[in-house]
Amino acid sequence: MYPKVQLTVSIPVRMRDGSVRTFIGYRVQHSNARGPYKGGIRYYPTTDLDEVTALAMLMTYKCAVVDLPYGGAKGGVACNPKELTRDELERLTRRYTYMIYDIIGPYKDIPAPDVYTDAQVMAWIMDTYSQLAGRQTPEVVTGKPVALGGSEGREEATGLGTAIGLREAAKALNMGIKGLRVAVEGFGNVGSYAAMYLHEWGAKVVAVSDSKGGVYNPEGLNVPKLIEHKKRTGTVLGFEGAKEITDEELLHLDVDALVPAAVEGTINARTVHDVKAKIVSEGANGPVTSDADRVLSEKGVFVVPDILANAGGVTVSYFEWVQNLKREKWTKEEVLAKMEAKLVRAFHDVLNTSRRYAVSSRMGAMCLAVERVCEAIKLLNIWP
Ligand code: NAD
Repeated sequence: MYPKVQLTVSIPVRMRDGSVRTFIGYRVQHSNARGPYKGGIRYYPTTDLDEVTALAMLMTYKCAVVDLPYGGAKGGVACNPKELTRDELERLTRRYTYMIYDIIGPYKDIPAPDVYTDAQVMAWIMDTYSQLAGRQTPEVVTGKPVALGGSEGREEATGLGTAIGLREAAKALNMGIKGLRVAVEGFGNVGSYAAMYLHEWGAKVVAVSDSKGGVYNPEGLNVPKLIEHKKRTGTVLGFEGAKEITDEELLHLDVDALVPAAVEGTINARTVHDVKAKIVSEGANGPVTSDADRVLSEKGVFVVPDILANAGGVTVSYFEWVQNLKREKWTKEEVLAKMEAKLVRAFHDVLNTSRRYAVSSRMGAMCLAVERVCEAIKLLNIWP
């Protein structure tokens, strides 16, 4: 219930016109009972201490579900990066890193990208930390560019993990993946890779959508061609041989499985009643609201909860950290195979826990995570 550390810092930045603007930044460390704190940093105008604290707690449980040797943390700066120049963004990032320098570190707290921060921002954090520490320290952040110690496989990790969650759920329900009819909401990093792997494994991806709308073909979409089309035109709309549908129509299609991989709350009290899918694999964070979750549960829908279904990203972040500490470089195949093994195991741990307590898989994932954190806290005891 109580985060261990909540740090609020002010970040003065010299702006392009010579003026100085002060931004407010946060780093919240929720729990390090199971290992060093781990969690992303977001740059977003409305980011505040409450939001960062809630997200830090979720990281504790996400890492525990996948059994990574990490606790949970989150950071953020209230700013609109779209209004900042690259130089301003660099100065903001470096000053923020300087302000949180004492509480982060490869064995203390390892940041990563989140909303509107990317590999370049991680490179600046790494360089600032390394210069202050007096030694190159790539293992202080993950999600770095591959040229600076980032891991192969990070780009496809989350989407592949979401597809693995769906595949395992289909197996558990004796449905199998071949010919499974799937609709994917959101066709960005997570959605497009999830769709690509599902297509590769023989599932029929019949519909996908992005913020402009969706496309549908009951015979199945050619996902590699659709990815090319999206790259070329910036949207999935206008794809040859597919009918255009709205995002809501996509959610209500007669499919076996849904992959919400766009934004939070799209499956809500209004949209949930007409959902026909039997499996939902949550690529996005919080795509199902809590009232909608009750409806899905009543309908007997199998939900692969977000803290499991999108944990592929943090799992590969962990592998990046391990590679950096050992000064090794693994191939993409190695990284993704290790990730798959971890996620499949976590899936079955969650399934067993939800059966043991006779609860939904979402509640099962939470029970498993809380149990693991509690066990560590009890073993550590309170000191001093
Ligand atoms: P992204 O920006 O690459 O893609 C988001 C996609 O959703 C875009 O195609 C966008 O057009 C679409 N979209 C936005 N609003 C929509 C709407 N109302 N209806 C349909 N489509 C809509 O982002 P991403 O990295 O793929 O992240 C997607 C979700 O997954 C987010 O909730 C994110 O927090 C979560 N997530 C991502 C990662 C990761 O490694 N990228 C890890 C964990 C969780």
